[in-house]
Amino acid sequence: MNKIIEIENLTKNYGKVKALKGVTLDVNQGEVFGFLGPNGAGKTTTIRCMLDMIRPQGGSIRVLGYDPQKDPVAVRAKVGYLPGELNLEGNLKVSQVLHYFNDLRGNQLDWGRVKALAAQLELDLNVAIKNMSKGNKQKVGVVQALMHRPELLILDEPTSGLDPLMQHQVYRLLKEANREGATIFFSSHIIKEVEGLANRIAIIRDGVIVEEADPSQLMTMEMRRIRVRFIDAVPEESLAPLAQFSKVHRERQDMYSFQVKGEVDGFIKALAAYPIADLDVERPSLEEVFLTYYAAGGKE
Ligand code: ATP
Repeated sequence: MNKIIEIENLTKNYGKVKALKGVTLDVNQGEVFGFLGPNGAGKTTTIRCMLDMIRPQGGSIRVLGYDPQKDPVAVRAKVGYLPGELNLEGNLKVSQVLHYFNDLRGNQLDWGRVKALAAQLELDLNVAIKNMSKGNKQKVGVVQALMHRPELLILDEPTSGLDPLMQHQVYRLLKEANREGATIFFSSHIIKEVEGLANRIAIIRDGVIVEEADPSQLMTMEMRRIRVRFIDAVPEESLAPLAQFSKVHRERQDMYSFQVKGEVDGFIKALAAYPIADLDVERPSLEEVFLTYYAAGGKE
């Protein structure tokens, strides 16, 4: 299989902060690769090394067959990159910013493509950047990454700041780009986003890849918090049959929350033995999943 990104044993320190402690990962041609991790895990650092925006202390990287330190221009020309924090010149209009990016990439763009992308994201090309909301600026970032139909997209939290409708539009555009042949590497801390988009994921925590899997495997490692209000007060001892499925936290005499790992079937069937007034199911954030799985510094 053709490897589009190859990272081996990458290390990066910022002074005393060890941001990457030997990251190794591969992305194959045509994959949508989700790079998941909580805040500060090392996602942005890895991405910046891939584009030679910062230099690692150790390890090797190849992007589209190039060493980014030796051929940074080739890498940037072929990659559609969306940074986590996009700084755009405030006095320019959106169309001027996009023309600027197009000029940098050799002015080969079909402007109809830009208009189509902008229409799909409901982005007005005639507004000055300084007058735009955070979400609308993010849309400009998405358009500039996609507009030249790059063979590789590297996206740092692509839906950050977008409302749910626009998040879905971005997912649609990314899936379309992938169908047309683009390989996609994107970082995220939203577990649902990664489940919906990626064919393969790596999870990074504290500068180390702690898991590589396909997204269906995420389900079995996923936690749910189920909050139950019983019709009457229930003593904690009488909930013993549920303990084999979950961790129990008492909130009130008639209200408990349970932490259930993986499929909920066994838990729900056991719960049915009690008279229940109300039930809430929440998916915790990835960070909570991490805390549960990796708090002790190793996998459960
Ligand atoms: P987030 O989801 O919050 O963007 P991230 O996974 O992208 O997080 P990084 O930005 O790569 O994480 O940061 C990894 C670690 O390196 C963190 O501990 C962060 O504080 C530290 N770090 C990042 N950039 C710098 C810098 N320029 N100087 C010093 N420390 C840094």
